[in-house]
Amino acid sequence: MNIQWYPGHMTKAKRAMEENVKVVDLIIEIVDARAPGATRNPDLAALGRGKDRLIILNKADLAEPEGTERWAAWFVSQGIRSFVMDARSRRDLKGLLRAIEEASVKKKARDQARGILNRPVRAMAAGIPNVGKSTLINTIAGRTAARTGNRPGVTKGTQWIRLGKSVELLDTPGILWPKFEDPEIGLMIAFLGSIGEMAVDQEELAGEFFRFLERTGRTEGFTERYGTEPSGRPEEVLSRIALKRSLLLAGGLPDTRRAASAVLEDFRAGRLGRICLELPGKL
Ligand code: GDP
Repeated sequence: MNIQWYPGHMTKAKRAMEENVKVVDLIIEIVDARAPGATRNPDLAALGRGKDRLIILNKADLAEPEGTERWAAWFVSQGIRSFVMDARSRRDLKGLLRAIEEASVKKKARDQARGILNRPVRAMAAGIPNVGKSTLINTIAGRTAARTGNRPGVTKGTQWIRLGKSVELLDTPGILWPKFEDPEIGLMIAFLGSIGEMAVDQEELAGEFFRFLERTGRTEGFTERYGTEPSGRPEEVLSRIALKRSLLLAGGLPDTRRAASAVLEDFRAGRLGRICLELPGKL
């Protein structure tokens, strides 16, 4: 399956982000803990040159804990600071605050050289769609402050949200689109819902997902949920799921397209168990 996707509003979002980057000290690069390599955007390294950086392995509650441990160790080995969290939970905010303070190395050095004391770190969250940027901002703000969903280019009038006394976070996240030449990476990003549903044939994608589960031996949660293995012809697997879920077309035929979307949604929300799509070294 070959995924091609070039959303038209990409350039506008990138430009908005380039403007916002200028006013921050630190970039919080959010990735999905289930595929931290595939969900990074290579543009971000260039965009944030000279800035401090912290990677958040988000949705860790949906990833295999051993996988997340391996990724955290891998980032250490690359000299990149990272923090593991569930952006929906306020419990992780103390740790995040500490991680941001520790990552603000260049900012501190600059302030010190200029004799500036106790200036808060200004940070910006950025990442590809669906990794949890708005959720993180909302959790920090303690209310619905950020626009959830993907509405690029809406930044106007810079607003800041405080995290403790020492961090200010821009209320608008930077959105970048996934970049991939490798079709495997395209698949992972599509499984995770970072590519518009309209751009990818959901049934074909579900078929690829079944193959992934089988190849990597991650079928347990699937079988438990649907009472069927993801093996055999994908149309048949989807038909069985559709019938079981009463997803029917007019005339009573199984609606395999809706079944495909349901399976992918179940995976994205963690209802098929905690599943990593990639591990370090397998990039
Ligand atoms: P954005 O496009 O990067 O702003 O992503 P959103 O903040 O809109 O989040 C996309 C979806 O992932 C929403 O349904 C969130 O509730 C969910 N989500 C975000 N962070 C987490 C997390 O850490 N754990 C879980 N389980 N779900 C999350």
